[in-house]
Amino acid sequence: MTTFHIITLFPESFESYLQASIIKRAQEKSLITIKFYNPRDFVVIHKDKESSYSDRRVDNRPYGGGPGMVIEALPVIKAIAKSLRLGTKRLAQGKLKGKTKKVKIVFFSPSGTQFTNETADIFKKYTDIVMVCGRYEGIDARVKKVFPMIDISIGPYVLTGGELPALIMIDSITRRIEGVLGDIKSLEEERVASPDVYTRPEIIEYKGKKYRVPKVLLSGHHQKMEEWKKKRQNKLSPDIKT
Ligand code: SAH
Repeated sequence: MTTFHIITLFPESFESYLQASIIKRAQEKSLITIKFYNPRDFVVIHKDKESSYSDRRVDNRPYGGGPGMVIEALPVIKAIAKSLRLGTKRLAQGKLKGKTKKVKIVFFSPSGTQFTNETADIFKKYTDIVMVCGRYEGIDARVKKVFPMIDISIGPYVLTGGELPALIMIDSITRRIEGVLGDIKSLEEERVASPDVYTRPEIIEYKGKKYRVPKVLLSGHHQKMEEWKKKRQNKLSPDIKT
């Protein structure tokens, strides 16, 4: 069983995706568990002050100037510690590993190591994966001094937060866990999978025009079908021009 611990200011943004289809079933079958920790819950509020939940600010102006806000280190550190069930004493010693647990902490950053199928296979071996989702200008870098963690980027573009990267990692790791996909052969990386796929009916008609399934796929000739798929797989999409 793999447990994903998500450190996020916006746990509600995960709900609909995690409650659908294969990822939902993986949780029902106890193949994965997903837990949330909100740094806002670890903000110290002055007792003498009346304050609402939204008063629990976790962001602050950046040292060194520049636009945007930075998420403070301590609420995030405490949220990570909670996810690892560390007492303050152990936290100070920086001990992360329980007896049988294999823990990895991920810090999302657009300039981190590119996440790939190979990375997903490595992550699959951990029992606990902690994912730290940034927002705004990011999180105070001292978080990374307290806990050893790996910077991961989901791709060469900048998003507004680490929540989608976390969902992408959960999805891609989960589908590789045995028992999640009905047929493990569904893992595309292990076979020849065409980007173009077809199903019934054999002929569809739209606005007076007929569209057919490529003949080779109806031939029943296994080798020819595999060759066709391989060709499709290797065909590059054209570059996007403005
Ligand atoms: N100014 C920051 C951008 C912050 S984007 C910088 O240039 O590094 C806000 C947060 O979104 C980041 O802290 C990170 O957690 C997440 N994020 C944005 N794009 C991402 C990407 N491509 N991969 C992983 N995380 C990303």
